[in-house]
Amino acid sequence: MERFSIIKGDIVKAKTDAIVNAANTSLLGGGGVDGAIHRAAGKELLAECETLGGCKTGEAKITKGYKLKAKFVIHTPGPIWRGGKWDEESLLANCYQNSLQLAEQYDIQTIAFPSISTGVYRFPVGLAAEIAVREIMSYLEVHPKIQNVVMVCFDDDTKLAYQNALEQYQKAHT
Ligand code: ADP
Repeated sequence: MERFSIIKGDIVKAKTDAIVNAANTSLLGGGGVDGAIHRAAGKELLAECETLGGCKTGEAKITKGYKLKAKFVIHTPGPIWRGGKWDEESLLANCYQNSLQLAEQYDIQTIAFPSISTGVYRFPVGLAAEIAVREIMSYLEVHPKIQNVVMVCFDDDTKLAYQNALEQYQKAHT
């Protein structure tokens, strides 16, 4: 079975051990996927987030999932796209790497990611997909403990961008 898959859907409904939240650095909730996760998890999630003291862009922090099906939420603030000369690409790569490392520390075997930074933060989706696929695939190759990673895309265009990126990655690595 493939360990990495790309689907269209709502990450709030994911049945993975953990879901990743495209958070902001305050960790106190926001719009987009962040708002949806907080609404579905309930107020206790915000209460736990308030104890964490925020999170730097590209880093990751973990909480319980409360009312979500997922046992854990990994919160990672993606970079705001400011034209590409402000380290946006490596900061986005850090989001995926740090989230996966944290998952492994907590013995998480299955994890769902949203398309970090490509909504309100305006990161170009083609480039974001290339970075996400590269980071996830190369992580899985050397870390057998994580069994399954699913990229949960909210719309068709986003899903297509990730599928294209995966195809390119596989072509370059066979
Ligand atoms: P960012 O601030 O990191 O750009 P956004 O939440 O604005 O985060 O958008 C990131 C991506 O998450 C976008 O592709 C958006 O369409 C998508 N998204 C929004 N809600 C959900 C959801 N419930 N499940 C999965 N993806 C979602």
